[in-house]
Amino acid sequence: MTSSFVATIGLEIHVQLDTQTKMFCRCRRTVDAPPNSHVCPVCLGMPGGLPVVNQGAVAMGVQLAEALSCTIHRQSVFARKNYFYPDLPKGYQITQHEAPLATDGVLADPETGEVVRVSRVHLEEDAGKSIHPQSGEHSLVDFNRCGAPLAEIVTEPEFHSPGAAVAWLKELWTLVDFLGICRGSMADGVFRCDANVSMAKVGCGELGVRTELKNMNSFQAILSALEFEIDRQTEVLRTGGRVLLETRLWDEGTGQTLVMRGKEEARDYRYFDEPDLPVLILEPMWLQRVVESTRETPGEVRRAFAHRFGLTREDVGRFTTSRKWADYAFEALERAQDIPAVCNWLNRDVANAIHQSGGDPSALSVAPDDISKLANLVESGTLSLPMARNVFRTMWSRVLPLAQCLEDAGHQESDESTLRTVVGELIDEFPDEARRYVAGKESLLRWFVGQAMRRTQGRGNPQIISQLFEKLLNRKEHP
Ligand code: ADP
Ligand code: ZN
Ligand code: MG
Repeated sequence: MTSSFVATIGLEIHVQLDTQTKMFCRCRRTVDAPPNSHVCPVCLGMPGGLPVVNQGAVAMGVQLAEALSCTIHRQSVFARKNYFYPDLPKGYQITQHEAPLATDGVLADPETGEVVRVSRVHLEEDAGKSIHPQSGEHSLVDFNRCGAPLAEIVTEPEFHSPGAAVAWLKELWTLVDFLGICRGSMADGVFRCDANVSMAKVGCGELGVRTELKNMNSFQAILSALEFEIDRQTEVLRTGGRVLLETRLWDEGTGQTLVMRGKEEARDYRYFDEPDLPVLILEPMWLQRVVESTRETPGEVRRAFAHRFGLTREDVGRFTTSRKWADYAFEALERAQDIPAVCNWLNRDVANAIHQSGGDPSALSVAPDDISKLANLVESGTLSLPMARNVFRTMWSRVLPLAQCLEDAGHQESDESTLRTVVGELIDEFPDEARRYVAGKESLLRWFVGQAMRRTQGRGNPQIISQLFEKLLNRKEHP
């Protein structure tokens, strides 16, 4: 019976840090350069090449560890992890083994609030990339990625469903995005995750034998691989078999996990301290400065959205899926007169436009400021919603600022002398209101602007009208 087994999952995540150069040499770190165009004797493992630690990568590792509430160790040690593979020219990877940068962190799932412990965060270098062309006659290798800086995050085995593991992993992705230490996605290979999973009898108090799953290139693939593996292990156990400690590869095509290597072939990495690097010592003043410069976490930004604008949990969640989008939404909302109206614009027209332009908010030509202005024009009755949405589409497709779109479309009258006539007439027609405004009832300014908007059939530029009223009324003498 499936229900008598419980799944346990632990994750190992590799984050490629967004540095200019590689972990131990001065080659540029790239993701899309022509193969083998950014290599040197150090990252190619030539005899005599000596590694030098990239301080920027250490700083990003520290910020990640800080954001995960880890204990950051003032001293950590680089080690050699020895194995042979064509994409590893040195024959070993420099990593941290017994003395990692940081240990004992936590990160909560924002939906469920459930906290998962992070065992460790350590620094290491990436390997190159093997390429297997269709012809199948030979394989190629690209060493550009060789030596790129990685932070590895290892969780405790504390997830009990694929959904919980993937939701947490998404939060970790959001975290590194907000911290600005990793640019890209699972599809780009700069954020990768291996998943360990085991099954145990409910209430038996021990974890079962696990398998390690590799080769998943999307959140969906991780979900599917874990679901498949849980079913497979359950079936093995249900029929009296034993799960073997092995590494399995997710095959996207067939939707299965396949054995890559078993326990017998388990690698013996012969770790030893890297003789070419000294102990990594974090100087207290430097450490403090780096910790203090850590950017806001998604959790902090979510709280800011909720407190500042009183948004619903759903809206907060929608606006904090990435740093760029959160910055955009925050800026638009800061200038909103009507918060729910601006939320609607963001969720509807803006999100849609970003989606259609490839998903990157910074590629959207419409300034967040113009979104709040547009929403305000609708709220004040200056523009109808369909008109405003047309204006938005023009701003977006023709890369024009709001003011220009409004004038081009004949929607807005900004000529001062024309507007001054209207404003003057209204002041004459409503002497009482004018007096009360001048005497201090400031809310009447909005009322006057509204009258002027009506009189111009919504075409007057409300900002200019408002300035004109202030100018003319404040100059007027009153009894
Ligand atoms: P190793 O030293 O063999 O690499 P670790 O103890 O470092 O093993 O664990 C590696 C990953 O596997 C961690 O994410 C951990 O949470 C997970 N893990 C360990 N044991 C189990 C288990 N029995 N079931 C599921 N996951 C496990
Ligand atoms: Zn190099
Ligand atoms: Mg381990």
